[in-house]
Amino acid sequence: MAASAPRRFVGPADLHLHSNQSDGTESPAEVVRQAAAHGLRTVALTDHDRTTGWDEAAEAAASLGLTFLPGMELSAKHEWRSVHVLGYLFDPSDSALRAETERIRGDRIGRAERIVRNIGRDYDLVWEDVVAQTAPDATVGRPHIADALVARGIVRDRTEAFDGILHPREGYYEPHYAPDPLTAVRLITDAGGVAIIAHPVTAGRDRMMPVPFLERLVDAGLGGFEIDHRENTAAGKRMLRDFAARHDLIVTGSSDYHGAGKPNRPGENTTSDEMVERLIARATGTAPRYP
Ligand code: AMP
Ligand code: FE
Ligand code: FE
Ligand code: ZN
Repeated sequence: MAASAPRRFVGPADLHLHSNQSDGTESPAEVVRQAAAHGLRTVALTDHDRTTGWDEAAEAAASLGLTFLPGMELSAKHEWRSVHVLGYLFDPSDSALRAETERIRGDRIGRAERIVRNIGRDYDLVWEDVVAQTAPDATVGRPHIADALVARGIVRDRTEAFDGILHPREGYYEPHYAPDPLTAVRLITDAGGVAIIAHPVTAGRDRMMPVPFLERLVDAGLGGFEIDHRENTAAGKRMLRDFAARHDLIVTGSSDYHGAGKPNRPGENTTSDEMVERLIARATGTAPRYP
């Protein structure tokens, strides 16, 4: 093959995986090994609000013959709704995006401490318990508090923690700073990346952003939606597929693997070759790492 010929990736592709750099339970290299063991040939690492796992994951992918797409799941908020914006192939040195992720991560620490203080009024839980469950420098979140509750024998697993103590209705919840989704999409796009709204239509009253707001996201540079995801509702997927077709957007499918932290398995949803190609063609921030 001529040196100038474009390198092509090989499917199947799973573009949403978490490591212990955020709330997954495995190292970046182990996540890639698990993905390979589940038959995937192209993977993206998408830790919450940080990119520190990229090098380790890329190295593991290269040694296993997988294509690696650097990514991140950026925290955002629309009114009261938590919105997750997946960013792919952006420039990790972009100063505006870096400043925003630093701000989010910093605020997440104080927020997690406040949640733990609230819980500590009724249960035997202290901040050190959470620190013990969090990899050095990881983006801290409620899953680490859940793991601390498990270690203390207060709940059986993360699911029980999220259904109970960590649920906002229980009164211990605190929010953290996050940018508006329009800002999140612009930051990723301006850094040369492709912004894809993660699990946009999960079950629950009023969880979906209104359609006119989705249209504003498209105007702001939105690349597409993660449609095949176990938490999206069937009706929501139909609506989004239609919306995506009308606006010529990318649609992805992914597992949202968190190691032992969630039942999601690598490759339980995948993204079509055509859509991965569109995503790669659209990005200018950083190149895919081909084996
Ligand atoms: P936070 O961003 O700190 O509010 O925590 C939200 C994170 O918790 C999400 O990124 C999910 O990965 C995780 N999460 C939400 N619900 C559950 C659940 N039922 N079991 C395990 N992890 C969950
Ligand atoms: Fe997560
Ligand atoms: Fe998410
Ligand atoms: Zn995720």
